[in-house]
Amino acid sequence: MKLLVAVKRVIDYNVKVRVKADRSDVDLANVKMALNPFCEIAVEEAVRLKEQGVASEVVVVSIGGKACQEQLRTALALGADRAIQVEAPDSPDALSVARILAKIAETEQPGLILLGKQAIDSDNNQTGQMLAALLNRPQATFASEVKVEGEHLLVTREVDGGLQTLKLTLPAVVTTDLRLNEPRYASLPNIMKAKKKPLEVKTAEDLGVTVGSKIRLLGVEPPAERSAGIKVGSVAELVEKLRNEAKVIA
Ligand code: AMP
Repeated sequence: MKLLVAVKRVIDYNVKVRVKADRSDVDLANVKMALNPFCEIAVEEAVRLKEQGVASEVVVVSIGGKACQEQLRTALALGADRAIQVEAPDSPDALSVARILAKIAETEQPGLILLGKQAIDSDNNQTGQMLAALLNRPQATFASEVKVEGEHLLVTREVDGGLQTLKLTLPAVVTTDLRLNEPRYASLPNIMKAKKKPLEVKTAEDLGVTVGSKIRLLGVEPPAERSAGIKVGSVAELVEKLRNEAKVIA
């Protein structure tokens, strides 16, 4: 079985995000970028399925400018076999991404497509669901455990009040949640090997998809500044401040 994993380049989760001076968008100048954490979990799961002998090949795909090749190389260093970059303007909307992924799936015919449950930049949580709908394939979102059983996939999901297990018929689409696995670190030899793994570049036009956006970003506001905290010297002082300054106790 071939596995297809969609990976997105996003601002590294350790970076404090800045807003552009004109508030038109987030400032990406000189900002450290990384593989979206949920995509990293999807790559890890795919590589584990290959190591278990369940999958034969792991193909990673990213849609965006040339810079996303960096994240594809990271995925190759983590164990993916081959990569596809689909050249498209940065930040295509979820439907355009899903349409491109659907076209790739038509040619690659993967038994399972893995995506992150959401990209931490836009927090859309849409692409996997749209892709499953476009391909008319069964889907399980927010997976915390994935097991292949012959022609089927057992997926455990964390839902309000407990765990839900779904049985899907392959081929299917799965989106990954945080507790699915703990991704490995890429070793130096694997980073070197990843440089030689195949990375194919296509354009959205090659795939017959017009990248557009039905959503217009009107503006971005940074969170309100918090005033600095203070240390109090005693419980009595704390109570005094809570009563007379914060006025949260009587
Ligand atoms: P979203 O629906 O934007 O929150 O993204 C959910 C998942 O869709 C991500 O974790 C990726 O697996 C995939 N995805 C979204 N945008 C892209 C992109 N530009 N290239 C590749 N995969 C993407």
